[in-house]
Amino acid sequence: MNPKPLTHEQIRSAPKVVLHEHLDGGLRPQTLIELAHEIGHTLPANEPEALANWFFDAANSGTLERYLETFAHTVAVLQTPEHCFRVASEAAQDLAADGVVYAEIRYAPEQQLLGGMSLEAVVEATLAGFAEGERLAQEAGNPIIARTILCGMRHADRTLEIAQLAAAYRDKGVVGFDIAGGEIGNPPERHLPAFTYLRHVSMPFTIHAGESVGTPSIKGAVAVCGASRIGHGIKLMEDIDLSSDEPRLGRVADYIRDRRIALEVAPSSNLQTGGAKTLAEHPIKQLFDLGFRVTVNNDNRLMSRTHTSREFQRLSETFGWGWAEVRRCTENAIKASFLHYPERRRILEAVIRPAYAALEASESDSE
Ligand SMILES: [Zn+2]
Repeated sequence: MNPKPLTHEQIRSAPKVVLHEHLDGGLRPQTLIELAHEIGHTLPANEPEALANWFFDAANSGTLERYLETFAHTVAVLQTPEHCFRVASEAAQDLAADGVVYAEIRYAPEQQLLGGMSLEAVVEATLAGFAEGERLAQEAGNPIIARTILCGMRHADRTLEIAQLAAAYRDKGVVGFDIAGGEIGNPPERHLPAFTYLRHVSMPFTIHAGESVGTPSIKGAVAVCGASRIGHGIKLMEDIDLSSDEPRLGRVADYIRDRRIALEVAPSSNLQTGGAKTLAEHPIKQLFDLGFRVTVNNDNRLMSRTHTSREFQRLSETFGWGWAEVRRCTENAIKASFLHYPERRRILEAVIRPAYAALEASESDSE
């Protein structure tokens, strides 16, 4: 137990890795206001602070389904190449300013066709935006690598097409695939053709599962569909018996821990969608202590009014996490990322490990 929580500034200075970040959940309030004004979309508030508060309150509903309703406003302003470009560029810059050195940012191109863009046009404008964001972040002294995960919507029927789109842009910045949207009533197996296709072309994917549905959804995602990571996965606790001193894992939990399948946990988001009442009751610490490959993510910075340093800061305050835990989650994340192995290794060995070694050394000097 680390007696003194890490400060926000300490955590911001450390390199971090984000695997679960929605492009349409991380807009700057001011940008959303400007873009909505351009296209004549009416927002619930027209001043940045008031709008940020509206999103947080509306998303703080206790269910995933109501949380997702807030995205109507952000998706509305992602319907032109210029807007996709700007939002992507700002997302990369904002993550970089918070000390994120590698990010996989996801979105669902099928939701961005209302202005007449093709699926390909959405992907190309957004990739160009990420590249611009990387360039500007580098200039600002905060280098970041931003890669894309394409999502198919799980209530719709275009997931095979989006999986093929992801594969078509594989060497141009798209590194993986996911299904997003309401989990209840939309089990991963419904989209088996998309996952089977991806396995045939040897492309990795993650699946949102265990966020609002428990073990059956997680089992479907990993054992049936073959996901190599799980979005959230916190309801995996249903498959873990903690009633005695020796925790007993069920088959699904064992499979996930044994295979080192990463859990893309987003603590603040999980509190908003009813995954836990308070952070102290959130299972992230138990999962971490049991040796699961836990990673820490924002999910949606706008809806959860958060960013990566804040997520870690809250974990440090609540569970006494120090550099060892922040470092472990960061190493877990780069190891589970969809980058090619030599690139993962380079970031781990040239960026993450030296930085944490220095932070840990300065910590022990000051004691
Ligand atoms: Zn998500």
